[in-house]
Amino acid sequence: MSKSKSSESVKVVVRCRPMNEKERAAGFERVVSLDVKLGQIMVKNPREASANEPPKVFTFDSVYDWNSKQIDLYDETFRPLVDSVLLGFNGTIFAYGQTGTGKTYTMEGLRKDPERRGVIPNSFEHIFTHISRSQNQQYLVRASYLEIYQEEIRDLLSKDQSRRLELRERPDVGVHVRDLSSFVTKSVREIENVMNIGNQNRSVGATNMNEHSSRSHAIFVITVECSEMGVDEENHIRVGKLNLVDLAGSERQSKTGAQGERLKEATKINLSLSALGNVISALVDGRSSHIPYRDSKLTRLLQDSLGGNARTVMVANIGPASYNVEETLTTLRYANRAKNIKNKPRINEDPKDAMLRTFQEEILRLKEQLKKRVGKKERRKQRRRRADGGRDGDDQEEGETEDDDDEDKGEYWKEQQEKLERERRAIVEDHSLVAEEKAQLLKEKEKKMEDLRREKEAGEKLAAKVKDMESKLLVGGKNIVDHTNEQQRVLEQKRQEIAEQKRREREMRQQMDNRDEETLELKETYSSLQQEVDIKTKKLKKLFSKLQAVKGEIEDVKEQHISERQEHEQIQDELTRELKLKQLILENFIPQDEKNKISSRMFFDEEEESWRMKPITRLEEDHQMMSRPQSAVGYRRPLSRDARYKAENVLTLAMDMPTRTTRDYQEPVIDPKTAAALEDALREENEIQVDASDHSSLGAAFSSGSLKKPKSGRPRTGRKSGTPSPGNPLYPQPRGLVPK
Ligand code: ADP
Ligand code: MG
Repeated sequence: MSKSKSSESVKVVVRCRPMNEKERAAGFERVVSLDVKLGQIMVKNPREASANEPPKVFTFDSVYDWNSKQIDLYDETFRPLVDSVLLGFNGTIFAYGQTGTGKTYTMEGLRKDPERRGVIPNSFEHIFTHISRSQNQQYLVRASYLEIYQEEIRDLLSKDQSRRLELRERPDVGVHVRDLSSFVTKSVREIENVMNIGNQNRSVGATNMNEHSSRSHAIFVITVECSEMGVDEENHIRVGKLNLVDLAGSERQSKTGAQGERLKEATKINLSLSALGNVISALVDGRSSHIPYRDSKLTRLLQDSLGGNARTVMVANIGPASYNVEETLTTLRYANRAKNIKNKPRINEDPKDAMLRTFQEEILRLKEQLKKRVGKKERRKQRRRRADGGRDGDDQEEGETEDDDDEDKGEYWKEQQEKLERERRAIVEDHSLVAEEKAQLLKEKEKKMEDLRREKEAGEKLAAKVKDMESKLLVGGKNIVDHTNEQQRVLEQKRQEIAEQKRREREMRQQMDNRDEETLELKETYSSLQQEVDIKTKKLKKLFSKLQAVKGEIEDVKEQHISERQEHEQIQDELTRELKLKQLILENFIPQDEKNKISSRMFFDEEEESWRMKPITRLEEDHQMMSRPQSAVGYRRPLSRDARYKAENVLTLAMDMPTRTTRDYQEPVIDPKTAAALEDALREENEIQVDASDHSSLGAAFSSGSLKKPKSGRPRTGRKSGTPSPGNPLYPQPRGLVPK
């Protein structure tokens, strides 16, 4: 059952961070200005040449300038979304923007400072406070934390951080990450703990955390399950899922110039982000029937949030300074498009994968089990009492309630233990028994005592488990208590009212703005010619400036498109070159037979999105390969290593060449100084040439590195080294065979 609602747009807000110290020190100009009341943002062109150009204007659901407080964003923009998650809707908050513009600040903020806490910690507080104030509802809250880096999914809460997870799609639960760990959390402190662990793991293995976080997407997922008695007297469970997404930096990353592995890496780095852009474009285009969700892990995982059944808020983060203007405009255009995505939010009622239901059933089952144990014990007790002469009447037993059960239990165990101990002592003291017999009896008694202890332990364990599981199911006022006082509550209420009012005011202003333009166009009756001229001139001016703005926008988008296309073309060229190399290797170095064998076995796995080999069993079914009979005595035949591979029909490629054990002779390398000295020493007197005019050539002549054999091959040993002959020291006669 699901309550459907008409469609609603993705809510897009823009937040501009303050200038940072560096920017202020460098004296950068601020090119962004915001009209918070109207939800408008103006960006002017910092170039001197275009000083008279009108600023580019964008309108959003709301905009937040550098004075905005975290709590303002929360109350106005995020709180309503988290509220609907508590009702059982799916909700997603994206932080989009260039690195360093405040995505992480918006999502996490400074956790220790309540004023500067981001939406994630604020939502923790919100969710648990809501539960503590609830009545007649049972809640289960759990959290997961994952990261997408180079199209690989890492579970940030798992012990094994080297493991990569896969996406799976099931018709009943949709797209999900297989084996993603999730932790049930009972309080703000516990869920904060989960986040801290994830954040620590995020930095593990990253050589440069800044670079890593700017290239990876972090998704914190909170699932809130709520069980409540419906009007039909049946328990119903609603499940809301909140995705809190800190996206990778949106800045353009040059992929060109890279080759091989580096190219593969580069093309993967922002694949998810460009896929997100493509999905948004396709969604708002109206003409495209195909939405490319499958192009990346991110878009597949968040499919619901983009044109699906979730509520979505996108925060576009920008910087104010002139040197960022290109990126700022790109972000604003991106955000502007995202405004037009339509979602159809719907409450998830009684989904198949609700964990709360499993919990409730398990608790019931364990309680039954516990009851049975108690029942067994009771019967034993009754029997014992009857044997004792029935001093206590049965009626007393009926009067026992569950409350004194605990006390009673303890007494029972003690009684039993004492009884066994007494019997044991009796055996020890009984002198009529033979030693062997005694030992045997003692052993039996001890075993009984051990059994008793074990039984007791098992019972206790069971009770503890029930208690533990029950403590995880949160019930307002019972195992989760609201600590805010009345004053705080009133304050909270007021804040929310103000936020709501602000929102309505902004909406009205935006509507009025639109209407102004319309009425200007509609006013067709004029009292005088002059008035008509005035109004029409005004209208013309307005339309003209609008036209200019649109023209400018078209130019900009065209330019952007061209540069993007060029980059794509370059990447394509590089990929084609790679492909050609692979083909060359394939055609020339892989035997045709083997190639055919491989091709016939390969298939494209849509789930894994990679080429895989069909398992060999398929071939066996086709009787292409006979299985080896077992040996007569029933054991498996021993196989040599190579034969085993043969049997498994692993590719029969030619053997690798053995690794070489010899090396090519290499002339000894002599330190250049020594070489020079040696050469000097071995030089014939009249061979020395010194050119006083050119020092570099002198240097070259002396630093030839290794010792050169004379071309004549004649050994030169025996020649006396010498100082240049006094007769002609600077310009010796060149000799034909000696290199100059
Ligand atoms: P991103 O995650 O987008 O790369 P960060 O959130 O790390 O950017 O922000 C970069 C720096 O700017 C941080 O030091 C952060 O504290 C600061 N900052 C960002 N937004 C704001 C803001 N609205 N107010 C104050 N400081 C901010
Ligand atoms: Mg960040």
